[in-house]
Amino acid sequence: MKIMKFGGTSVGRPERMAQVKDLVTRDNEPTIVVLSALSGTTNALVSIGDAMASGEKEKAKQLIDTLSAHYSQFINDLLKKESVKAKAIHTINEHFDFLYIILKISFNDALNKDILAQGELMSTKLFSFYLEEMGVDHVLLPALDFMSIDSNDEPQVSVIKSKITKSLEHHPGKSLFITQGYICRNAKKEVDNLKRGGSDYSASLIAAAVNASVCEIWTDIDGMHNNDPRVVKSTRPIEQLSFEEAAELAYFGAKILHPASIWPAQQYNIPVKLLNTMQPDAKGTLIVKDAEGEGVKAVAAKDGIVMLKIKSSRMLLAYGFLRKIFEVFEKYKTSIDMITTSEVAVSVTIDNTLHLDQIAKELQPLGELEVIVDQTIVSVVGNKLTQHDNLMTKMFDALCDIPVNMISFGGSLHNVSILIPTTHKNESLKVLNKGLFGLD
Ligand code: ADP
Ligand code: ASP
Ligand code: MG
Repeated sequence: MKIMKFGGTSVGRPERMAQVKDLVTRDNEPTIVVLSALSGTTNALVSIGDAMASGEKEKAKQLIDTLSAHYSQFINDLLKKESVKAKAIHTINEHFDFLYIILKISFNDALNKDILAQGELMSTKLFSFYLEEMGVDHVLLPALDFMSIDSNDEPQVSVIKSKITKSLEHHPGKSLFITQGYICRNAKKEVDNLKRGGSDYSASLIAAAVNASVCEIWTDIDGMHNNDPRVVKSTRPIEQLSFEEAAELAYFGAKILHPASIWPAQQYNIPVKLLNTMQPDAKGTLIVKDAEGEGVKAVAAKDGIVMLKIKSSRMLLAYGFLRKIFEVFEKYKTSIDMITTSEVAVSVTIDNTLHLDQIAKELQPLGELEVIVDQTIVSVVGNKLTQHDNLMTKMFDALCDIPVNMISFGGSLHNVSILIPTTHKNESLKVLNKGLFGLD
């Protein structure tokens, strides 16, 4: 069994769906196809939810009208057979009827998650109708039957495994399954999701649950590049990454992968391939346990970081100080990304600012507290980093004009991270592209 996940741009136009059909029927290996919503849809659903949350019903209605018109046009261009087209129009209308009904009832967070789920529900149904029209035998497998998160909002592969095994058992002899990425059920059995970009995570979880031969992530670029192509001019694809390297890049901002999407594949040792739907024969990136290549492979950046600096002379020669600090973060379920210490000060970074005020209040008695917002972590990722290419010299030469607030190395041999003001992010990625890779 293999997993093939297609992102929003890969299904965002009727002609792309036709390409996806060609790709998923290329060989005979049983396949689970995981689809995202059509590109732009989840953003539109987020705006609809936001408008409803702030009581702007007219604005929400207009957004639904625009999205509905987009889907009508999409169906018209995608399907040719009148009988299949009529079924598709009827099905998609049901989803829009649901959105229009929500306009009339009182809004809450659970309802918002139902709204956000509509994108993947619609894209998979549209693709299924297209396969039907093309005479391709397949099964539409509802992700809400098997994809779940626990009371800590964490997915458990063992639970997903037992549920998806049951779902698959209902379809003996079938070899092509289509399912939704991103959506799941939470511990209360409500519709929920795996956060933005979560279809990659769905694919990796399903790959782990069915012990797939490979988890293919098909997107709009030919693999993980050495730097963020949205920021720097020249980037190149990386042929191989280890699970650790890929996980660090995903976690530290390489948008091509959801931050948590590597661990399930890593835990079950399932190779992940990053491939380009528009250029299916390009090599892409292979992510495996023992990847080839040493030295620096890529740079990534993660925005929205807050730095907390706690200074206290009581820390001098004292023990138990770090524990007291960590307990505060534990209490508010806020994970720390970077940490640096000196004899009299500790600096940490967080990206979840939900409880920032309470955390700050509880840290204040421990020392002098400084909270610095609008920061970005820039991470240099690779293998056996310090043993190669005078990395540190090149890195700090390149960054000589950047005001660096923190530096972190030593947690693993795969990552050197620095913290900088977000206003310097683009410049940092550019100078590192030149300094580390000789690229513009
Ligand atoms: P999908 O909709 O298929 O999930 P995403 O938009 O989530 O696609 O991810 C692909 C995008 O990630 C690329 O178009 C690219 O702009 C962006 N990206 C950011 N950093 C990297 C990187 N290091 N390598 C490749 N793509 C990257
Ligand atoms: N459709 C969801 C999003 O846009 C999930 C995904 O595309 O991976 O975030
Ligand atoms: Mg994505």
